[in-house]
Amino acid sequence: MNSSSTTAAPCVCCGQTLRAGLEEWHWVCALCGYEFAQFAPAINEAESHKKLDEAQRDTALKSLREANFNQLLDRIGRHTAPAGTRLLDVGAAHGWFVKAAASRGFTALGLEPDHAVCEQAQRNGALVREGFFPDVLAAHEQFDVIVFNDVFEHIPHSDGLLSQCIARLAPGGLLVLNLPSSRGVFYRASKLLHRFGAGAFFDRLWQKGMPSPHLHYFHARNLTQLSARHGLTLIDSAHLASVHLDGLYARITYFKSGVRWLAPLIWLAIVAAYPLVRWGAPSDIDVVIFRRNGG
Ligand SMILES: [Zn+2]
Repeated sequence: MNSSSTTAAPCVCCGQTLRAGLEEWHWVCALCGYEFAQFAPAINEAESHKKLDEAQRDTALKSLREANFNQLLDRIGRHTAPAGTRLLDVGAAHGWFVKAAASRGFTALGLEPDHAVCEQAQRNGALVREGFFPDVLAAHEQFDVIVFNDVFEHIPHSDGLLSQCIARLAPGGLLVLNLPSSRGVFYRASKLLHRFGAGAFFDRLWQKGMPSPHLHYFHARNLTQLSARHGLTLIDSAHLASVHLDGLYARITYFKSGVRWLAPLIWLAIVAAYPLVRWGAPSDIDVVIFRRNGG
């Protein structure tokens, strides 16, 4: 499924053949709205890491993530009591979510494949194991809650991934996906800008050229369609803020691309659009909670 192939792959959500999108790497489903990017992930490749300022990234995302993680844990808490509940955070990054979950009484474990990031999480006091899901889990390990925070959209084969989740989820357990939405106002604005010849914001939202770019854009409805095939039932969905003005400039500039003059323009566009988001324009982050059938 690349620009040289004559037939595109079927949509992972609904089976419709994908159509060429806005770039040679971008594919869309006209039926359900799923979008796919044909990038190769490159975790731990030194070259792509040189482009990131990790300290700046930390500052950029901390306040937004902390607020969102607390809202997410409130929501999970409506469906299961923390005490004795085994929670797995796949792609735990700096371990903030694992620590927040543990402080509420969950038995929380994180997995993080990036060696340097995992060591940092462990130094921060989070219980995080280095490696990929589900490879580093022991044969018997199962969980009551499995969470993907900004991770699900980075993993190539969503269908296979959901099968692996089912294998690791106790009957009646919860799968929690926190991920970018193709219906979000910023994502839709980036597609509009692309049509006017300004593709930089679109590339930025897909994280093109970063160590682990986005490979998928879903929304709650096509995710529900995909998950139903795996015996998962949607029990809750919500939106989280995708932007806080605090830390925004650092977030835009932590990726050291060659076009530095773009950063102030992107910052200005987001600040200008910010009131729309606050007043109810579609959020760029979806949270969906599925329950494994048979519990
Ligand atoms: Zn589709």
